[in-house]
Amino acid sequence: MNYALIFKGHEFEYEIQAVVKIFIPRVRFQLCRDTEIPEAENQILTEYDKNKNLMHVDILLHDKKYTVSAPACAEKSGQEFQLCQMLYTGLQKLTGYQPPWGMLTGIRPVRKVLDLIGQGMTPDQACTELKQKYLISDKKLKLACDTALIQKEILPHSLKEIGLYISVPFCPTRCSYCSFVSHSIESAGNLIPEYVQKLCEEIKILGKLIEQYHLSVQSVYIGGGTPTAVSAGQLRQIMQAVQNYIDLSHAQEYTVEAGRADTITEEKLLVIKEMKADRISVNPQTLQDNVLKEIGRCHTARQAVEAFLLARKLGFDNINMDLIAGLPSDTFAGFSDTLEKVLSLSPDSITVHTLTLKRAGKLYHDEQYQNTEISEIEKMAEYSAEVLPKAGYRPYYLYRQKNTLGNLENVGYAKSGKENIYNILIMDDRQTILGAGCAASSKIITPDQNLTRVMNYKFPYEYIHRFEELMTKKQQIAQELEKLT
Ligand code: SF4
Repeated sequence: MNYALIFKGHEFEYEIQAVVKIFIPRVRFQLCRDTEIPEAENQILTEYDKNKNLMHVDILLHDKKYTVSAPACAEKSGQEFQLCQMLYTGLQKLTGYQPPWGMLTGIRPVRKVLDLIGQGMTPDQACTELKQKYLISDKKLKLACDTALIQKEILPHSLKEIGLYISVPFCPTRCSYCSFVSHSIESAGNLIPEYVQKLCEEIKILGKLIEQYHLSVQSVYIGGGTPTAVSAGQLRQIMQAVQNYIDLSHAQEYTVEAGRADTITEEKLLVIKEMKADRISVNPQTLQDNVLKEIGRCHTARQAVEAFLLARKLGFDNINMDLIAGLPSDTFAGFSDTLEKVLSLSPDSITVHTLTLKRAGKLYHDEQYQNTEISEIEKMAEYSAEVLPKAGYRPYYLYRQKNTLGNLENVGYAKSGKENIYNILIMDDRQTILGAGCAASSKIITPDQNLTRVMNYKFPYEYIHRFEELMTKKQQIAQELEKLT
């Protein structure tokens, strides 16, 4: 079956495609502009007829038709939204689907709530405004609003308080859904010693910049990949560089994303503890053995639980566990069973992601996985939002990604006082984060709220061999940091 998307008389292609994807995800459309007339069984035409000042939407989808025309809105800035809204209404009628986030396609719903509150609205007024504009469901609005209010309490106030991110892009094997740049130890393990050495050099350089511009490091996050995929000695080397070169006297949190159970050993946990990191993640994603196998993880549910218990025994009192809703061969029963088991461990925070299918992930190309039951995944996300607050976990960060099943969200829930500032910062774009390691980006937020992003090289090989060139990027970072003084 073929699909065509026709744009006439306007340039709103990006947003129009985003609305179409809400209802018809993972379908490749033939894109046609103005005069091209395709011959497709399914066609969606959006048109702005400037001569008649009319907006027009014409949909033919699985033999059902929908047509609507309306006078174009006078404000140029409102025309894109108007056409998207007309299209959204048509697709909703034809498919019968009520998207939980309505026609909101952006990835930061919480930011929208915070912006409206910042303009003087009460949280209720902000929710009413967003509901009217984007047709968001009450449950999702409540989730966004609750999250915004908690973030308001936590968010830092000074632009000189920054986050530091350190990337360790290696994993024991690659999960089938993974779209990160992470490399399996088997394919890139020989690069690790040199990578660690360069990473330590970069940490030293960042330390100097932090000192020179009188910045205060509020949060440190060692992520990946799986930072504990390297040896205990290499992990010590990285964390020793942090100790040596970064002033941690103002740091409120220091996280190591231990991640996969098959990499967590007592020796590595002791290194993390000795080097003063106070928060770790033990990420099972699921506690169903068949699902773990299906996604290519080389550990069992039992091992994930044991890794958690070992960390507790060694005195870690701030442990996060990540779960994913919508994994292949998981069911609502499997997901709720996982959630119950995780709750029985009482971790300090639980992050519930919804599976995102990106081209770089193996799963994206898996035919069998193309027709996943979205309603089942919606149930998983809703169940988490219901059960976790009852168990004392508050939603404190929330973001959406493109190509997430059901256009759902990722939510971090935490017990009070165990929220992770870095996780909020990375989504909020209100504070500077300096990044070290491959695929890490530094983003510098200046007093006029301008954001400059400086990307490191993406792959370990490039990072190692172009390290000197990379250092010229540090001059760009320095120029931006100058604006904070
Ligand atoms: S553990 Fe995370 S980073 Fe590593 S392969 Fe799996 S999804 Fe990717």
